[in-house]
Amino acid sequence: MGKGLHILVVENLESDFQLLLRALKKGGLDCHARRVEHPAAMQAALEEQVWDVALADYHLPEFGAEEALAIWQTRESSRPFIVVSGAISDEAAVQLMKAGAHDFLRKEHLVRLVPAIQRELEKFRERHLRKRTEEALIKSQEIAHLGSLDWDLEAGTHIWTCEALRILGLGPNEREWPFQAYLVAIHHEDRKRIEGQIEDYLHGCESSLELEHRLVRTDGEVRTVRCLGELTRHDNGTPRRLLLTLHDVTHRRQIESALQVATKAFENATEGVLVTDGDGYIQSVNPAFTAMTGYEAWEVKGKGPDLLNSKRHPPEFFQEMWQTLLSQGRWDGEIWNRRKNGEAFPARLSIIAVHSSQGALSHYVGVLTDLTDIVRSREALRHQSYHDSLTELPNRSLFHDRLAQSLRQAKRHQCRLAVVRFDLDHFKNINDSLGHAWGDALLQEVAKRMRSTIRQGDTASRLGGDDFALVLPDLEGVPETVRVVRKVAGVLFKPYHIEEREFFLTASIGVALFPDDGTDPDILAQNAGLAMTRAKKGGGDDLQFYTPAMGEAALRRQALEENLRGALKRGEFLLHYQPKVDLVSGRIIGMEALVRWDHPDVGLIPPDEFIPLAEETGLIVPLGEWVLRSACHQTRKWLDLELGPLRVAVNLSGRQFRQQDLVALVQETLATSGLPAESLELEITESTMMDDVEQARNTLEELSRLGLHIALDDFGTGYSSLSHIKRFPLQTLKIDRSFIGDLKVDPDGEAIISAVISLGNKLTLTVVAEGVETEDQWQFLSQNGCSEMQGFLFSRPLPVVQFESLLREEGIKMGGSREV
Ligand code: C2E
Ligand code: CA
Ligand code: CA
Repeated sequence: MGKGLHILVVENLESDFQLLLRALKKGGLDCHARRVEHPAAMQAALEEQVWDVALADYHLPEFGAEEALAIWQTRESSRPFIVVSGAISDEAAVQLMKAGAHDFLRKEHLVRLVPAIQRELEKFRERHLRKRTEEALIKSQEIAHLGSLDWDLEAGTHIWTCEALRILGLGPNEREWPFQAYLVAIHHEDRKRIEGQIEDYLHGCESSLELEHRLVRTDGEVRTVRCLGELTRHDNGTPRRLLLTLHDVTHRRQIESALQVATKAFENATEGVLVTDGDGYIQSVNPAFTAMTGYEAWEVKGKGPDLLNSKRHPPEFFQEMWQTLLSQGRWDGEIWNRRKNGEAFPARLSIIAVHSSQGALSHYVGVLTDLTDIVRSREALRHQSYHDSLTELPNRSLFHDRLAQSLRQAKRHQCRLAVVRFDLDHFKNINDSLGHAWGDALLQEVAKRMRSTIRQGDTASRLGGDDFALVLPDLEGVPETVRVVRKVAGVLFKPYHIEEREFFLTASIGVALFPDDGTDPDILAQNAGLAMTRAKKGGGDDLQFYTPAMGEAALRRQALEENLRGALKRGEFLLHYQPKVDLVSGRIIGMEALVRWDHPDVGLIPPDEFIPLAEETGLIVPLGEWVLRSACHQTRKWLDLELGPLRVAVNLSGRQFRQQDLVALVQETLATSGLPAESLELEITESTMMDDVEQARNTLEELSRLGLHIALDDFGTGYSSLSHIKRFPLQTLKIDRSFIGDLKVDPDGEAIISAVISLGNKLTLTVVAEGVETEDQWQFLSQNGCSEMQGFLFSRPLPVVQFESLLREEGIKMGGSREV
């Protein structure tokens, strides 16, 4: 297709077509024209190409201009359609123009044809341009979420653009929505302000109109819009027309406020936050980061990630970190960092990789929590759980760890190792008499001295109370061990000066050696403890090495303890009775009940071996009850057999004496056995009475009120406080057998005993001598006014049957010789 205009001519006469062509040519129009004379041909031509102009005759045999116009409009409504015709009525012409024809020419006036075409083409171009512009405008408003309102204040009409309607949530046929309705749609919290602003603007108080408010759409959705207004006024100033643009900024405001929140969080977080680019170069840090590391934001901007590197981690640590980051997009862990001042600090670090909306890695965000305090308190806690809080020495559990560790080394290097246990002598007394604060100070000083004397690699620890222990690895043998222990002891035994008081200390020391005395840490510690107990038994201030015999004794004790519990139930206890004799008449006036344990494997076990154990385990209470009942019942039997008068003496240990319901028990036992109270004597040692003097006095008084006798046992071994004895309700004083045994050995013995006897007599007490073994002793005692005696000279403690025979025989066998 050539250049020039394409003109479609609707004409049935070829001659008329030629006339037209000539006129076009004459008018200087460069064009191509084609003639069609019926609708099908016209349609085909339109389908074939675009025609710039249509020229149509009015009357055609096949069809007319009106029909041609309709066909033209289905294709190209706004291109020029010009009717060229002979005479037609004015009405017909007007009708055609109304239908959309652009011009009308008479065939006689063909000179006007070309100017008419040119004019219509020009008008078409303008129309076309305007339409395009309008379309573009609408489209761009849609893209920008920008709508507008054209409000004619005089006519009271409103026209909203499509986009405005969309923003308002309205349909396309609500273009003329009233402004009043718009005001109602403003969020109620914003409405007053906006109405005021519009009012002010319309009245000319404000020069520009700029609003931002929330809008509640009919569907309930809330949008945020921004409006700019421009008002045209009459010359006299009255408002004429308001153009208002409506911009939906909801999304932008949402992003802004989210950003604001994020910024606030970033600024105020207690964790240090750093943001880097995709290569790890720092872009921004928050104030907490600055507080934590000492680096200001401007100092770190653009710095690489190893700015904080403490050099405490091997390169592999960071390689692994990057690998995890790249593969999983995040890394969490604890890390040692370095502050600006060079100090290393532990931190928890979480790094997250941030990707852009296109999916490319854009940033890393690191969140740092300073763990210095946590790690410190973790360590303090660890220290606490492994150290004794008073002396700061390792405690029992750390002692065991260290011992186990030293033992492993000793085994590997085939060295000796010693475990030494120290128990301070009489520490309980020191604590009781000088006070706990003083005792604590002493323990601290002991610990300090121990720490200062041991070698590096040795461990000094406090296992509890006044029980200290040393682990001494790398020893040659016994002589070297003795030398080291002596050195430590030498320092410990130097005088202590605490609160202006000078004090000397001794200790019981036990030693066990690896591998001789055990290869297991528990066994070694235990054996050193046994050796220590042995040292203590001998009176303290002693060093003992472990021997297997100690282990056997300990084993025996352990076996006993296990057995003791069942012994009472199995009926393995029995009583022996040792007679008490009147020194003047020589007659048996009573007996002491002494318990025995008839162990099925071991045989008879003396009370000294199990009473302390029973006392420790509490078993003494039921055992003591059994003794009391048996003794009372047995004595009642002998009284019934008329072998009396007799008074039976029953021993009460400390724990028994302090037992709550003792008085009730005694009372009940007397009642059930039917033994008269005066036939019972309870023996209580001095130390038991002195434990809690007031309490003891009360108990003793209650017991006395029952009518029985109270004897002070083992007199002379304890406090021997006469002032107290006077205040207790006593009937009998038993001089301890050690005094009687010493009579010959100790030159002062006789004087002491005679003094005690005369004192007892003065207080109207019956004085009994225990452990009388010889005639000489007997002689001495009777000469010095002692009233009763008990001892092997007369009889050993006897089983029930023998004792009963003795009672029966007594007059016959000893009668003559014992009469004084
Ligand atoms: P104790 O109360 O001083 O009892 C006297 C101890 O001296 C008895 O030892 C007795 O056998 C022993 N003895 C008697 N005459 C002589 C003598 O001439 N020479 C020597 N060397 N010893 C003599 P036993 O029976 O071994 O009792 C030891 C301790 O056991 C008693 O000392 C007492 O404290 C305690 N005990 C015994 N039976 C009981 C009991 O039923 N309950 C409580 N709580 N303690 C008891
Ligand atoms: Ca006794
Ligand atoms: Ca005694």
